[in-house]
Amino acid sequence: SFMWIMSTGIILFTYTDIVYYYLDFRGQYSPDHFVDFIYLFSLSLIAFGALEKVCRNSSISEIDVVTNIGGRRRWLYLLIYPLFTILFSASGLIPVKPTYSEYLVWIVSISLYWAFCKYIQFSIGKEILLKRNNALLEQRVAQQVSELAFLTNQDILTALFNRRYFIDRLNETLKNRKPEDLTALLVIDIDRFKMINDTFGHDIGDKILIEFAYRMTQWNRYGVLLARLGGDEFAAMINGHYTKEDVEELCHQITEFCSRPIVIEEMPFSITVSIGASIAGAENCDARTLLQNADLAADRAQSQGYNGYVIFDPVMSKDFRKSLEIEFLLKNADVKKDFELFYQPQYAIPQKKLVGAEALIRWNTPEHGYIPPNVFIPIAEQGDAIHQIGRWVMQEAISQAAKWNRDHALSLKIGFNVSPKQLEDPGFIDLLRNLVSETGASPEWIDVEITESTMLSDEDKIRDIFAAFEKLRISVSIDDFGTGYSALSCLGKYSFDRIKIDKSLVDEISEGDDKRVNVIQAAINMAHATGMQAIAEGVERQEQLDILMELGCDQIQGYLLGRPVPADIFEQKYIEASLSDKKAEKGLKTPE
Ligand code: C2E
Ligand code: CA
Ligand code: CA
Repeated sequence: SFMWIMSTGIILFTYTDIVYYYLDFRGQYSPDHFVDFIYLFSLSLIAFGALEKVCRNSSISEIDVVTNIGGRRRWLYLLIYPLFTILFSASGLIPVKPTYSEYLVWIVSISLYWAFCKYIQFSIGKEILLKRNNALLEQRVAQQVSELAFLTNQDILTALFNRRYFIDRLNETLKNRKPEDLTALLVIDIDRFKMINDTFGHDIGDKILIEFAYRMTQWNRYGVLLARLGGDEFAAMINGHYTKEDVEELCHQITEFCSRPIVIEEMPFSITVSIGASIAGAENCDARTLLQNADLAADRAQSQGYNGYVIFDPVMSKDFRKSLEIEFLLKNADVKKDFELFYQPQYAIPQKKLVGAEALIRWNTPEHGYIPPNVFIPIAEQGDAIHQIGRWVMQEAISQAAKWNRDHALSLKIGFNVSPKQLEDPGFIDLLRNLVSETGASPEWIDVEITESTMLSDEDKIRDIFAAFEKLRISVSIDDFGTGYSALSCLGKYSFDRIKIDKSLVDEISEGDDKRVNVIQAAINMAHATGMQAIAEGVERQEQLDILMELGCDQIQGYLLGRPVPADIFEQKYIEASLSDKKAEKGLKTPE
């Protein structure tokens, strides 16, 4: 319609211009002539037309809302002017019979007024549109931010939450914890996952992790927050009206749903998990401590033989700190200077003849005094320190065996303890062979003590190791016999020289426990049947010795007959004594 208004305006303008020149030429023009009115009216029309075009072409007119913008106000504004006019007329300011120019002033004023309203409307519209666009933009940005946040909070492989998010949430939960609520954190480790990964590849490993995560989410009916902390380590947080028993029940349920084998590429995998739980108390109320404690408990669960759970106890944390200290001391220890070997005599019964000794390591530290081997050896085994210590023990014990036996023309068997980790070292047998040849020791003077639990590892590997010992003609004793599960079953499987019946079994025989006596009897009989000897350790009382003798046990080691002592004392106290016994024997025999 702007075209129509504009054209009318221009036609009127041209027409009135011509009429004006014509009238002026004829001298008929006087001010306030009708032509003035039309002339100004045409200009107004042109102005309207232009304004209409501006408004029409602006994007605002495309938006429906905008047409109503300021609508009510516009009418209000438009009403003001007529109102004033009426008021003015009523008060007599406006002539009753207006002239043309007065009409014109009115028209121009109304037009200006209308244009002014249109302008206001236009700017309000623009502002609203801008706001609306901004809101849309903000909404879109917010949506993308939340999508992004979800992605960054998620573990890519399993779609569970990731470590960062989990810890944030844990912290938040702990902060807002109500006193009647229980907050517990479970750390779930898949047992021997590294072995699965190494043997079957990472693809299979990943699939197992995915399936495990899936089972967790399927199991989760309790609003437990689940996350993958990294590797094969998962976590769960529970918060609410729970008790310690509930936490135990949840741990139990998790181990349960793992027991169904996971089938991947038609291969069934039986996985087990070790779970460590820590419950937030008054003291350990931050996520870091809670996580540390749960980790510690999970380690404990793992070392207790997998597929179980342990709930953190503050005592563990003390143990842990101590073990960290010991680890530090071990790192800085000078093996040759700080360690010492003690020797405990071993006797053949019934003659009570000294046949050998077990070398036992001793460690006196300036900082913590004496640290017993069953405290620091497991820590050394976790790190690499065991290799250095083990090498030194072997070297020391073998050269001591060579020295004593050569000096006194004896053939005592000196045994030393070898940890499973040392056996895993591919250079172990070479090292042993070199030590024997360097010291000039006879292999019969050496005995290697391997714990029964070592037998649990790969059968072929064990067979190889035993074969290597046999080739070297070094004897092997199975230490702590009767504490593991493999005890009797491994007797027929491998060939070695001696079983060491564990102190715990020996302790029980004096209590009149027939079952234990039967176990020992069976072990001794089987050992004899396969050409092995049996030695009992930890013999403290005469009655134990008597029973063992009756059972046909070959040798005895224990406080009853001698405690572990330093090498020089061992020589004086046990070797010299046995030499004089020998002389006395000979002395008795010579007169015959
Ligand atoms: P083990 O091999 O079973 O050593 C026997 C332990 O029982 C020794 O403790 C010994 O002192 C103690 N014992 C011997 N007779 C009796 C007795 O009649 N009554 C009592 N109550 N105890 C007795 P120790 O020397 O503290 O050694 C503890 C463990 O530390 C050893 O147990 C062994 O597993 C480990 N160990 C000791 N020395 C070494 C070593 O040089 N290398 C490695 N890898 N482990 C070692
Ligand atoms: Ca031993
Ligand atoms: Ca033992």
